[in-house]
Amino acid sequence: VFITLEGIEGAGKTTQVGRILEFMESQGYECISTREPGGTGIGAKIRAILLNSEHVTLAPLAELLLYEADRAQHLARLIKPALEAGKCVVCDRFCDATTAYQGYARELSLDFINELHARILDGLTPDLTLLFDLPAEIGLSRAKTRLHEQNNTSQEGRFEAEDLAFHRKVRQGYLTLAKAEPGRFAIVNADAAPDRVWEETKELLAEFTAK
Ligand code: C5P
Ligand code: MG
Repeated sequence: VFITLEGIEGAGKTTQVGRILEFMESQGYECISTREPGGTGIGAKIRAILLNSEHVTLAPLAELLLYEADRAQHLARLIKPALEAGKCVVCDRFCDATTAYQGYARELSLDFINELHARILDGLTPDLTLLFDLPAEIGLSRAKTRLHEQNNTSQEGRFEAEDLAFHRKVRQGYLTLAKAEPGRFAIVNADAAPDRVWEETKELLAEFTAK
């Protein structure tokens, strides 16, 4: 079983991962959790290139291809082997993030991105994609608070370069994707306290595992 978590900055995906894993394990699945970018050793190096203050100098096409390189490595070395071993894989961001960020928001060709995904995924698609949805301004203010609390200077300036308008486009992109594939996507209202978000997530997972 392959479950992916998506959403804009500050949607609270990472906060929910542990509980999702625990729930799936309680349903009898052997689980692993992972993330993009950075789910493998090489991926961690790619993540370091993508997510630091230098990232503003990255050419959009180079950025896209780094996300896809991370993904190709991740699929080949971690996700596919785990799925073949019968495990449940819970992944914090996957293809839809690239379509939403680099496609809908950064405005690179959606056709090209879809083509890359067809090639890289080679028939594999998530069984369930949980979209943690909330207004961009709320997500961004949460993310800024978090960076500040963590004293994270390496990522400083990222949320200035990628402003509110950008994140609004990301959100709309995600919602467009969810509308196009209602069977795969489930939308969670992430504009709520973590426990409330978990209640809704749990209900969706229960529905999914009962299928
Ligand atoms: O919270 P997370 O670890 O998922 O953050 C990854 C960061 O990478 C986010 O700030 C997001 O804006 C960015 N990202 C991106 N394009 C993607 C995936 C993530 O810009 N395709
Ligand atoms: Mg996160």
